[in-house]
This record gives sequence, C-alpha cells and structure tokens, in this order.
Amino acid sequence: MTPAQLGVRAGQTAPEWQETAREEDKRMRNGELNKRVNTFDVDAIRNDFPILKQCVHGRPLVYLDNAATTQKPQEVIDAIVRYYTETNANIHRGVHLLSEKATKEHEDARKIVKRFLNASSTQEIVFVRGCTEAINLVADSWGSENLGPGDEILVSNMEHHSNIVPWQLLCQRTGAVLKVIPIDDAGDLLMDEYQKLLGPRTKIVSVVHLSNALGTINPVREITRLAHEAGARVLIDGAQSVPHIPVDVQDIGCDFFAFSGHKIYGPTGIGVLYGKRELLEAMRPYQGGGDMISSVTFEETTYNALPYKFEAGTPNIEGAIALGTAIEYVERIGLEAIAAHERDVLEYGAQRLLETPGVTLIGTSRHKASILSFVLEGVHPHDVGTILDQEGVAIRTGHHCVQPVMKRYGIPATARVSLACYNTRGEIDALVAGLKKVVEIFS
Ligand code: PMP
Repeated sequence: MTPAQLGVRAGQTAPEWQETAREEDKRMRNGELNKRVNTFDVDAIRNDFPILKQCVHGRPLVYLDNAATTQKPQEVIDAIVRYYTETNANIHRGVHLLSEKATKEHEDARKIVKRFLNASSTQEIVFVRGCTEAINLVADSWGSENLGPGDEILVSNMEHHSNIVPWQLLCQRTGAVLKVIPIDDAGDLLMDEYQKLLGPRTKIVSVVHLSNALGTINPVREITRLAHEAGARVLIDGAQSVPHIPVDVQDIGCDFFAFSGHKIYGPTGIGVLYGKRELLEAMRPYQGGGDMISSVTFEETTYNALPYKFEAGTPNIEGAIALGTAIEYVERIGLEAIAAHERDVLEYGAQRLLETPGVTLIGTSRHKASILSFVLEGVHPHDVGTILDQEGVAIRTGHHCVQPVMKRYGIPATARVSLACYNTRGEIDALVAGLKKVVEIFS
C-alpha cells in the first residue's frame, strides 16, 4: 500500500477534526472554549518565550518541532536562575535554612504536579528523569514482580520506542510476551482487535495518550476500563498529551501515567511517574542509594515512604521546581484555551499543507491534536527539513522514534510539524511558502 492510499492527499479536504463524540474530547468542545479561543492572546504568549525572538539563517525563527521539545517561557528560565542564585542546597537532609527552603520548593512542585494530574496524593507523584525513565521504572519494578513466562503485555502499533523497548527487555527477563494492538489507515486504534487481544494472560496495557507521529488521541478511559475488566493494569504514556489536553488520572482510571517536563515548557532531565498508591507501595525500589532508605545496616535495609522510595540519590531539584513553574504557566493560560488555539492552527495547517501538490498527510484521525506528519512526493523528508531550515522553519524529519508506525504506512520517514501554544497561522503560511520552494527545487 502506498502512503497516498493511506493518508489524505493534496487537493482533498482536510479531515473534520472538529467533529468528534469521544468522552475525552468533550471537555474541549463547549461554548466556553470558543469564547476563550477568541480572546487567546498569542502575541502576549509569544512575548513570554525569549528564544522565539531570534532569527535563524536571517529569517525569523518559526519553531514547529514542539513534540521533540518545547521552548521555555522566561518565568521557567528565571525559576532556574533564582534557584541557583538564592536557594541552592541539597534537600531532605539539611537542617540549615537553605536546605529547608530548597526542600519546601521541591515538595511544593510535587503538590503542583499532583493538582495538575488530579492525583489523590503527593505520594503518588514520583520525580524521575523523564517519560522514558518512568516507563522503565514500571517495567522494571512492577513488571519483574508481576509477570512470568507466558504473561502478556499489550502495547499499540503507534508507541514511541520508549514504550516498546522497556517491555521487550522485561519480556527477555521474564519470558512474558509482547502483543501489539493494530491501527487503521487513519491512525486510530482498532478497538475490536484490542478487545480480542485482552485475555486472562494480559497483565498490563501500555499505550500512548497522544501519538507523537500521528497526533491521534487515544480513548484512554475506555482502554483503561476494558483492561481493568480483564484484570490488567494500565500505563498511559502522556509525554505528548499533557501540553495539549487536560489530564485527570482519576477520571482516566489508569494505574500509571508518565510524562516529561521538557515537552510542557519545563526543563529537560525532569519528568513524572504517577502511580496508584497501593501499587507503588507494593513495588520494590527501582534504584538503591541515598534518600530512598529508612535505615541501612549491612544486614538489612528498610525503605523510605512514598514517593521517596523511588527517588534514590540527589534529584534534579531545580528541574522539579522549574517544572512546577511551567505547569503553573500552562494552568494560567488554561489547557482548554491552549487546546482550542492549537486546534485552530492545526486545522488551518492541514488545509494549507494540502494545497501543496504532492503532499500526503499521515495520521488523519478525527481525534487528534498538535501533529501534522506528511510526506511530499518525490522528496525525502530530510531534504524537506533541510530546505525549510534555510527558510527559518524548524520541523522534525525522520522516524520520530516510532519505526513500527513508519513500517505500518510503508514509508521510511515523515516530515513532522508539531504545534505549541505560541504557534500561529502566520507561521503555517511561512511553512507553506517554504514548501513551495522545496517543490520548485525538486521539480
Ligand atoms: N513517549 C512519547 C509519545 C514521546 O513523544 C516521547 C518523546 N519524543 C517519549 C515517550 C520519551 O520522552 P523522553 O525522551 O522525554 O523521555
């Protein structure tokens, strides 16, 4: 099958992403939201991000690579500078003022994350390096104790490598088996197939909330409900969802939820694992070291309370604090307002991209956000990206760490535009103008 048969091609109408009945989308689709999108001040938001003011190759920067990492607002940068200028000390162990201050700021950040995800307790919020580490933690700590030969792990065909490889490693250690939920041509999970795959041997279902390659928003509540009915646990990879759609872990009902700070306007090197308390309580530590213990002798070690049992060693203190600042920034604008604005730019982007002859959109689910993956006939995505870069337009090209998705569509790579709250229709125009040059060069 050629990509042209799978995606929406130039000249065709963009899919109507406004029309959807999914529970997950409903919150973003009321009258209030339309009111907010009209008052969304994107210029003021852009002003918060100093990096966006620069030129690259003599052109104003058009940053459309937000699924890889987002830019940081000044207040997040300031939070890091302020921490090192006024607060820096190691946490939890010190009796002096700076240590107490640093500890309080670090724990305040945990409270912000708890509120943001609507977890029931800060004990359920574990700071980790990022989404990748969060998934590895669950695969290692929960997986090693709960899976044996013949047990099954379900992932989907649209998973990031970081939600595939940790489970493969676990399979190698335990004899468990990895099974894959297929997707259709639009990039939606085949829910019937999912239900058929669920069975008594299924121990965990680990799926992405918002696909970084296709933009599909998966029906995570339904996925979780069905998994629980089958007696399986659920991990949701929220790396791409938290910056774009409101998340409520209690509403989803998932057992674990993972995300990275740097994709939601926070720093790199910090991320979050949410886990239901009873599960985290029962899990063995992931790493050993300082801070994760209650007492140590050479004969025996007892472990610290949650969440510290999973936070061995000196953590990324300023990262956690600045992540808290980033989340407060997002909350102030409002995720629903961000979602509405991004949807407007996404739909405009899809329409404009399809004006370019030879473009095929990959990932055309009606339930999608923030991502426009495409191929341009006769031009390798890397060439598209390199020429666009000369025009000041930063996009990502390649397999986006989802090689099974590329295989599913029979393509080696895509060019990917990924949006954030600061992107505009004008930037889409710059992208399309750049693409015209690409077409000229290759025609
Ligand atoms: N899952 C998804 C869907 C992602 O897009 C990414 C990052 N591209 C990850 C997981 C891994 O995130 P990180 O590299 O920050 O750990």
